[in-house]
Order: sequence, then C-alpha cells, then structure tokens
Amino acid sequence: MNRVYNFSAGPSMLPEPVLQKAAGEILNYEGSGQSVMEMSHRSGVFEGIMESAQSLLREVMGIPQNYKVLFLQGGASSQFAAVPMNLMTGSRKADYVLSGQFSTKAFQEGSRYGDCKAVASSKEDNFSHIPYLDKNEFRPDADYFHICMNNTIYGTLWHELPDTGNVPLVADISSCILSQPIDVAKFGLLYAGAQKNVAPAGLTIVIVREDLIGEPQEGTPTMFNYGVMAKNDSMYNTPPCWPIYICKLVLDWIKEDIGGLKAMEERNVKKAQVLYDFLDSSRLFKPCAEKDSRSIMNVTFVTGDKDLDGKFVKEATEAGFVNLKGHRSVGGMRASIYNAMPPEGIDKLVEFMAKFEKENS
Ligand SMILES: *Cc1c(COP(=O)(O)O)cnc(C)c1O
Repeated sequence: MNRVYNFSAGPSMLPEPVLQKAAGEILNYEGSGQSVMEMSHRSGVFEGIMESAQSLLREVMGIPQNYKVLFLQGGASSQFAAVPMNLMTGSRKADYVLSGQFSTKAFQEGSRYGDCKAVASSKEDNFSHIPYLDKNEFRPDADYFHICMNNTIYGTLWHELPDTGNVPLVADISSCILSQPIDVAKFGLLYAGAQKNVAPAGLTIVIVREDLIGEPQEGTPTMFNYGVMAKNDSMYNTPPCWPIYICKLVLDWIKEDIGGLKAMEERNVKKAQVLYDFLDSSRLFKPCAEKDSRSIMNVTFVTGDKDLDGKFVKEATEAGFVNLKGHRSVGGMRASIYNAMPPEGIDKLVEFMAKFEKENS
C-alpha cells in the first residue's frame, strides 16, 4: 500500500520510523506480553514510559529545572480556560494579542475568568501578519501576557517575542512545538495540543514555571488545577497512555535520527523555503502570509480564483497530496509541513504545482 503525502493541519503525519516501531511493539511491549494500550498506568512498565517521555522532552527542549512539565488531556482549547483559572489570580487582568482564530478563542475564553484586554490585533488584514505592537497598550500589572506563537490557520509565526518586562509571557505553541529551539526561560508558561508535531490527539503538554503554580481561582475543577497535576506527576487520574508512548518515540526520533531541535529547525526552514521560493516566483499561486511573518509549519496560498483553487485541491488529492484545502475561514490552500513531512514530500508537491500552473495558465 502506498502512503500519501498528508498535509493535514492536525491531526497530522507522524514520522514513519515511529509508526513502524509502534507497529512492531503493538502486541507485546518490551516483553511485557501486553500492548501499551492495555497496560495499567500504575504499572512499572508504563511509569518507565512516562518518565522517559518527560525527561526526553526536558532534554530535547532544554527545559530549565524550575519548570514543571505536565501531561494533560482536553486539548489546547482546555488550556484557554485552565491558564486564566490558574494564573489570573493577582490583579485578575491579562493581556492578549489577537493574531488569528485560536488566539481570539483564547481571549474570549479568558474573558470569562477576568479582565482580558486585546492589546493588538491583525484582524483587519485577515491575520496575514503578526500584529504590530504598541507597548503603551501593555498593562504592567497584568497577571500574564498571551500570544499564539504559530498561527496554524493563517500560516504566520512570531519571529521575535514581545518584551513584556516582568509580566509572564504565555504562549500557545500547539503547531510549532519541537519544530525549532525555544528559549523556555523567556516564558512563564507554554502549552500545546500534541496532534500537530508530537503524538496522536489526546495529549496536551503544559510547561510552567514553578513559582506561577499557586492557589487557582475559586471553583477551578481539580482536573484543571496545575498544582494538583504537578503534585501527582500528571497521574492524578488515568493519563493518555498511548499518546504519551508515541510522544516518547517521536522524541527519540528527533534526538537520535534528526539530531535535536537545531537540526530539526534547519530541516524545517529548508523545507519551507522550497515551497515559499516556488510561490514567490509563481504566476498562478500567491502566498497569503506577509514575508516577515511566515510560518515554517503551515504555508497558506491561493490562486485568486475559487474554482481554480477547488480544481487544484481535487487534482492534488488524486495525485496523492491530501488535505491541502485551506481552513474554511480563509479558503484557498494550506500545506501543513510539520516535522514528519519528509523533504521529498515538498519537492514533489512543488513539482506537481509547477505542472498544474503550466496546464492552467
Ligand atoms: C490545533 C490548535 C489548537 C486547538 O487544539 P485542540 O487540541 O484541538 O484544542 C489551538 N491552538 C493552536 C495554535 C492550534 O494549532
């Protein structure tokens, strides 16, 4: 059976060596006589998997000692509420930058728990760039400052972090986690759903500076309480065992096969460059994101003609390049080229696009 080149925004491709390893261990994990899907989360075998996954994440991302790593459930969307519940406990104010749909949802959810302010937005430009910031809008007494680092739907990335002074910077890194090195010490908290770059859907990663974990807002569900989760090593209840196991295999792949996040970044930048170079020189396809905001994970583009966009997506699908249709709120096309997309997937897509351009202009 041929595998397709899957450009899905999430859940998305996993590295083939990881799938093969998991397939080989699916009936009998390391002589335990059981699948990881079947074993007790309190068993020694699973505790070993949990510990390896967490320590590998710390090692690969270079997470400082004074940060806790939490393996939770509920997706990044649950963190839109959990972050304010746990962190908006001082002035009960938080600043948000609106750079796309997810950051807007985070802002709206946050507003249910306190005084949230949208300090910048690029909505009027259909989120084609990271918003311009006016520091006078930032509130120095805010409990945190929230950004969405990579905007999955619009294909934009923060290439430079905002200077928030003493206000902890919080970032949704769902679609860029593990794509390049991140200086974790610059953040108070990072969170990500796993299904873009880490594992199958079901695992949510939170990396939080220890001193920010305190008494949450009154009424916070126990499952949303960072302190409870940290105290119980993310095992207060049954964790998402299978995604945690795949997360460990993906981290092994990044560390051993790729050579760490710096090498991962070089590979990703090169991959994205091939696609952007083609788009910049194409007479048919136009990139959507402004140059200085371009994502290396999600590349958005259009032909300028809806029917032609549809024809392209249809013919691409038939040729084995699937899930290239843009998000319903943007239209056009989006190629999500996460870590697991091999470089030849992009080369072949560009070849196909060049052929389509010739036939349709
Ligand atoms: C996919 C995504 C989300 C939503 O994640 P869920 O796990 O489905 O809740 C939030 N933020 C960003 C940046 C995403 O890419």
